[in-house]
Amino acid sequence: METKSLNFIEQKLVADLAEGKNDGRVQTRFPPEPNGYLHIGHAKAICLDFGLAEKYNGVCNLRFDDTNPTKEDMEYVDAIKEDIRWLGFQWAHEYYASDYFQQLWDFAIRLIREGHAYVDEQPSEVIAAQKGTPTQAGVESPFRNRPVEESLALFEKMNSGEIDEGKMVLRAKIDMANPNMHFRDPIIYRVVKTPHHRTGNRWYAYPMYDFAHGQSDYFEGVTHSLCTLEFVVHRPLYDYFIDLLKEGRDLDDHRPRQTEFNKLNLNYTLLSKRNLLLLVNEGIVSGWDDPRMPTLCGFRRRGYTPASIRNFVDKIGYTTYDALNDFALLESAVREDLNATATRVSAVLHPVKLTLTNYPEGKTEVLQVTNNPEDLSAGTHDIIFSRDLWIEEDDFMEDAPKKYFRMTPGQEVRLKGAYIVRCTGCRKDENGKVVEVFAEYDPETRSGLPGADRKVKGTIHWLSCGHCQQAEVRLYDRLWLEENPRDGLARILEERQCTPVEAMRQMLNPHSLERLTNCYVEPFLADAKPLNHFQFQRIGYFCVDKESTPEHLVFNRTATLKDSWGKLVAKNNG
Ligand code: ATP
Ligand code: MG
Repeated sequence: METKSLNFIEQKLVADLAEGKNDGRVQTRFPPEPNGYLHIGHAKAICLDFGLAEKYNGVCNLRFDDTNPTKEDMEYVDAIKEDIRWLGFQWAHEYYASDYFQQLWDFAIRLIREGHAYVDEQPSEVIAAQKGTPTQAGVESPFRNRPVEESLALFEKMNSGEIDEGKMVLRAKIDMANPNMHFRDPIIYRVVKTPHHRTGNRWYAYPMYDFAHGQSDYFEGVTHSLCTLEFVVHRPLYDYFIDLLKEGRDLDDHRPRQTEFNKLNLNYTLLSKRNLLLLVNEGIVSGWDDPRMPTLCGFRRRGYTPASIRNFVDKIGYTTYDALNDFALLESAVREDLNATATRVSAVLHPVKLTLTNYPEGKTEVLQVTNNPEDLSAGTHDIIFSRDLWIEEDDFMEDAPKKYFRMTPGQEVRLKGAYIVRCTGCRKDENGKVVEVFAEYDPETRSGLPGADRKVKGTIHWLSCGHCQQAEVRLYDRLWLEENPRDGLARILEERQCTPVEAMRQMLNPHSLERLTNCYVEPFLADAKPLNHFQFQRIGYFCVDKESTPEHLVFNRTATLKDSWGKLVAKNNG
């Protein structure tokens, strides 16, 4: 039974269905521009577009809004498709706005003929200056009332390659005094000489977003056109063009309706493909899939699961208020998912040697590790125990405070899944650094044996020195020091004269990546494949990086076991 209340968009859709609108059809689309990789913000749009279609037996299509050849590329088309599939969605049809270039062109010609559009030869700065302000009417272009035949001829030239970029545009002739600035004779076509990634040099005149988007929705039969709030002010224009398109024609009677919802905005995270592209091009990150990137491929490589992202999006919901969501919520979603599914293993990230002085040299024991206490059907795997072990550096302290329940001289701890041991001392190098810890084990206390339930306060994990594999572990932290880097970027750019990249560099967390090259993991991990998920016991969730090989294992930290975001905020502020 549905117990969650429906968001405002779904309520509207249900009402439309109840009223019998669109013959009961539900058709949505996800319309990315192929000018970069998808980020977590897009996941919010994807979950809505595809989710509603799925739930109401509708159709969701993928439409590439490819009207700007200078920024677009097939690489992005392919990556976008991969990421949508990874999230768990499948589009019914794959469409391209460029498939409608002819239809859009024909419509533009019609608009010119009917006196709704004209070719303007003024430079873009002049056109911009004539726009006016919301309270002050704009100025009409001297070309506004030129003869239809002249505009038609020039529009043809705009598309033949004879006209240079920026020399002419086609403008809709609407109303230079309209309080909605988008109605002040918006530019609907411009000249672009860069070959298009699909249509090559077939076109030189390209439709603008506002002219392509609504019509594309209409051509496809979209019923519910969902997008983010910045398009609220574009909606009247969207409707205006569709009205003109249908006017006096015997066209299909349906019409798409646009509804806007709030963008996803995460704290300590910068979205927007334009900014992410800068990070990639400047080498600030290693690529679109750098695990610190908020791209879907970045999250994937970091070890996030599709379910965790979908659950997170579901939790934050859809409203009409600009929000700043807490990254901790996303992290808790991945923790929840991985807790249920990740295999438990041991890894020592900062190793120090532990020698059990009363354990026979050369002896080994095979112990069993429960793969996942949350899911006993996941079975067990073996781990080997011996006299020479690795433990975490900070699991030993020579002079420990009272509440330190780990390894300190005179105190007992349990070695996880093995024995209780009592620490007897340590050996240091010439700099005073502890290089070896000594302890004695109690043979009566092996886990699982009768009488082994003697309680000690601390349990630490370990690996047998002779039975483990070296690995590299990459620890990630937030990329940005600013809680709202989007606003931070705007602020810095306003405060001083610098480029966006320089402004970004001022907000970067210098400790966003820590590489530990001398870690140890269980041999069980030797055949782990990229994207396999694990819980390193007591440390966190990790996944195998794509650069990992059997000879050189590399793991990425997906998340710590407990929320570290709150703590980090405190540290950065203090
Ligand atoms: P960006 O500003 O990051 O480049 P965009 O809006 O240009 O993103 P598009 O490819 O044009 O990206 O957008 C595809 C769809 O994703 C649009 O419907 C857009 O409204 C939606 N979208 C983009 N960013 C977000 C976000 N942060 N939250 C929710 N939806 C988003
Ligand atoms: Mg865009």
